[in-house]
Amino acid sequence: MDKKSQNSFSLAIHGGAGGVYSKVRKQEKLIYDHLETVLEAGRTLLAKGGSALDTVNLCVRMLEDDPLFNAGCGAVANAAGRYELDASIMDGKTLQAGAVAAVVNVKNPVDLARLVMKKTPHVLLCGPGAIDFAKAQDVPTVTQRYFKSAETKVKDLVDKSSKHGTVGAVARDIKSNVAAATSTGGYDKKMPGRIGDSPLIGAGNYADNASGAISCTGIGEHFIRTGAAAYAAFLIEHDGLNAQQAAQKTINRLKEKVKADGAFILVDKDGNVAIAQNATVMRCGWIEHNGPALTTLQAPIRAQSQ
Ligand code: ASP
Repeated sequence: MDKKSQNSFSLAIHGGAGGVYSKVRKQEKLIYDHLETVLEAGRTLLAKGGSALDTVNLCVRMLEDDPLFNAGCGAVANAAGRYELDASIMDGKTLQAGAVAAVVNVKNPVDLARLVMKKTPHVLLCGPGAIDFAKAQDVPTVTQRYFKSAETKVKDLVDKSSKHGTVGAVARDIKSNVAAATSTGGYDKKMPGRIGDSPLIGAGNYADNASGAISCTGIGEHFIRTGAAAYAAFLIEHDGLNAQQAAQKTINRLKEKVKADGAFILVDKDGNVAIAQNATVMRCGWIEHNGPALTTLQAPIRAQSQ
């Protein structure tokens, strides 16, 4: 580990890939302002010695409570006009993970995913069992109207086309532990019961102290079919690639194997951040080794597929 990696923290968050950038600069800036607020909240926690796990949980919970993103209150509706949400969280220190899929009444799916990890022997809960578990754990629940009214509210803030975005966070804390969390409403008009990559460990979300933490965004089926998040981690652990090389190779492979567009954020075990993208839009921000908060509004993306 080099000097800058010792006792330093890193964090990256995303607000989803795909869609288009808003032509209205003020609207685009608004989305990035919200991302920066979340980044700074994450920084405060990490700087106090907070864990990577608590930090990714906090960041994703904040993004779920923000109607500008397609997760939590801002989730998009499925083909039946209902809202079904997916989320997962993974601790790179223990390889423990928790996830929920297609939940319909939970305010913060990432919190329920964390409880699945902490309180059950399982990794993924869905359907009536997930609802019963949420009730038993006393997590805040909501009705479907909660999602509908957030959708209405956001129409005044940004164009429909620019409101798109699964959310995710990856972090490395000062004790060199990494964690990842991802949360989504999936995509517009998905089939009822469809589950994407975000709650699937190894597909849309992964963390291991031996490699790093990854959170993906894009059409989930492609990330599931290529095991994208775990693949990037294995490139670091087994092939000795650095964060940037692993990100580049994974995003290239996505294009080669399944002709897919997508993006992901990665923080490696030493706190180096890589952003990979071959989708037109990827809204994200990062703090590397306690440095300044940067976003894709000011800084170029660090790995593009050619
Ligand atoms: N990956 C998410 C899903 O397929 C969607 C997205 O990231 O935009 O559910």
